Amino acid sequence: MDEESRKLYLEAGKIAARIMAEGFEEIQEGQSLKELADSIEERMRKAGARPAFPVNISINDVAAHYSPDAWDETVFEKGQLVKLDLGVHLEGHIADIARSRWVGGGDERLIEASEKALEKAIEIIRPGVTTDQIGAVIEETITSYGYRPVENLTGHMLKPYNLHGGVLIPNIKTRHGEMLKEGDVFAMEPFATDGAGRVMDDNRAIIFKYLQDRPLRMKEARLILAHVKENYATLPFAERWIAPLVPRFKLNQALRQLAFNKAIYAYHILRERTRGTVSQAEHTIMVTEDGCIVTTRE
Ligand code: MN
Ligand code: MN
Repeated sequence: MDEESRKLYLEAGKIAARIMAEGFEEIQEGQSLKELADSIEERMRKAGARPAFPVNISINDVAAHYSPDAWDETVFEKGQLVKLDLGVHLEGHIADIARSRWVGGGDERLIEASEKALEKAIEIIRPGVTTDQIGAVIEETITSYGYRPVENLTGHMLKPYNLHGGVLIPNIKTRHGEMLKEGDVFAMEPFATDGAGRVMDDNRAIIFKYLQDRPLRMKEARLILAHVKENYATLPFAERWIAPLVPRFKLNQALRQLAFNKAIYAYHILRERTRGTVSQAEHTIMVTEDGCIVTTRE
């Protein structure tokens, strides 16, 4: 990796870490989800960065891919386990970070399980370590707490303007693995649950990504597609971000038509199969000559 890219990854990491620290404190009973998401994304722009994806605020058995829509009026309630997952990019250089917090207290060991798994995984990162070795450490750590890792969610390689750079980091021991190399950048994200350890697609999607130009019947669909291609291209966008473009009563129909025609990809809300509660911890790391740098540490 060249020096300029390295600097941008490190700077994006610092911005993400700071915004996480600030946003995390706002996970309090009565706080509006939409206001929190909007204020975090606003802080990214003020820092000279852009969101790498819509802020995810996933609660209890929802593991990922929830982001408030434009009309969301929900507030945090006592007893909820909240996962705050945010990403920023500087000229495509992404930092991806997540933390979990109980509103008004709860079983801290469930959060500790994913945090400790992440910490142990970071400890073994160096050139030559394989993704199955990392998965094994994550699985062993989480099961030692009496919980299960979510087996069908993974960490992922980061490339410029690309959240999924080809290599995945499993949260369980797998039969085969790929070797990490110096200069690779990865988001590592163990999920722990008291449920079965699998997520399933919910019917609803609030986060999407541009895929390709397609002929479309609805003018609102064409308008949205042109806008997201121009503004987000390879990175995900939120329903909330495009809501001002079209009348409210046309929005869902337009998004459905776009997804049906494979013009956009719909990231369905991911829910734990047995409605177990899910915790998540995530950092972005850069593999160095003899270990790694955690870019998303303040
Ligand atoms: Mn993330
Ligand atoms: Mn991630």
